[in-house]
Amino acid sequence: CPESHVIIDLDSSHAALTKNVTQPRKANAAFVILARNQDLSGVLDSIQQNEDRFNKKFGYPYVFLNDEPFEPDFIKYTSEVISTTAEYGVIPHDHWHQPKWINEDRATAGRQKLEAQDVMYAESVPYRNMCRFNSGFFFRHELLKKYDYYWRIEPDIKFFCDLDFDPFLFMQDNKKVYAFTIALHEYVETIETLWNTTKEFIQKYPQHIPKGNALRFLSEDGGATYNGCHFWSNFEIADLNFWRSPAYMAYFEYLDQAGGFYYERWGDAPVHSIGAALLARPDQIHFFNEIGYRHSPWTHCPPGETHKKGKCSCDPKDNFDRIDWSCLKDFEASFA
Ligand code: GDP
Ligand code: MN
Repeated sequence: CPESHVIIDLDSSHAALTKNVTQPRKANAAFVILARNQDLSGVLDSIQQNEDRFNKKFGYPYVFLNDEPFEPDFIKYTSEVISTTAEYGVIPHDHWHQPKWINEDRATAGRQKLEAQDVMYAESVPYRNMCRFNSGFFFRHELLKKYDYYWRIEPDIKFFCDLDFDPFLFMQDNKKVYAFTIALHEYVETIETLWNTTKEFIQKYPQHIPKGNALRFLSEDGGATYNGCHFWSNFEIADLNFWRSPAYMAYFEYLDQAGGFYYERWGDAPVHSIGAALLARPDQIHFFNEIGYRHSPWTHCPPGETHKKGKCSCDPKDNFDRIDWSCLKDFEASFA
């Protein structure tokens, strides 16, 4: 009858109202962790700190990705530490492995050249697969399709401070596309032709390069040379739709065709950083000072009031921000 109908309506609208009041606003976001099964203990260490310092209050889900299936123990022990939900995905073969069109002789020669220069991971093909995957594929993975923002977490990192705000909502509300905690110079041996390839891209696709971008972060001479500055991508909070945009996809495709992920050892850090600084404005890129963070060998430890507020467990003397090798000053200069 009509009367009971009215009562039911009132009830459900009341329930909806209560839900809105008690449930804080959230972004459509997840933590993303690329890992091998043998990374379990380092992953547990990282996510336990993430839960304690941030996520037990904010409640975001996790996505784990691997080029091989995760073992039952990996799933069991990680999900025991996580206060929310987690999904575990396998990476499609072609998103991970060296493409057929890479000339293997040239790739072998490239690895040997870096080995002779004593460069880290010089001879590793899996490392190159990882860098290429992080540069151009993770944001297209089936499990990430439903999300707008991600926070990348690696094994064996440290989170030093309590966070009393939601960085994902900060990104969304302030229209940020990329955020970092540490910015530094790259060893240029690994990216010998990356800047020239980028300059070719700029010449061929001027329509993708917005006016007022953050080019100054990358170059002190208007783009003639690359200063090696990059955001350290083992920590990232960013907008997945920025990587999925036609501009960034065109940039990644251009780099991929040039083959430098295998002929050299292009890292996802310089690739993401050049992508972000070239295709976004400085005000769309954010430095999260509040997030105390360490990935060996560098630490961002917020000094002063921020340290106190976050009850940070790091020594502010270890802070990377103002040492010579840091590129925070170049980021700040890009606003000028
Ligand atoms: P580094 O920080 O540059 O020294 O490189 P890492 O060894 O920390 O690797 C970066 C990220 O990729 C970490 O999250 C690793 O767990 C992950 N990773 C590296 N190599 C592989 C691999 O071969 N397979 C998988 N599934 N993950 C990898
Ligand atoms: Mn690492």
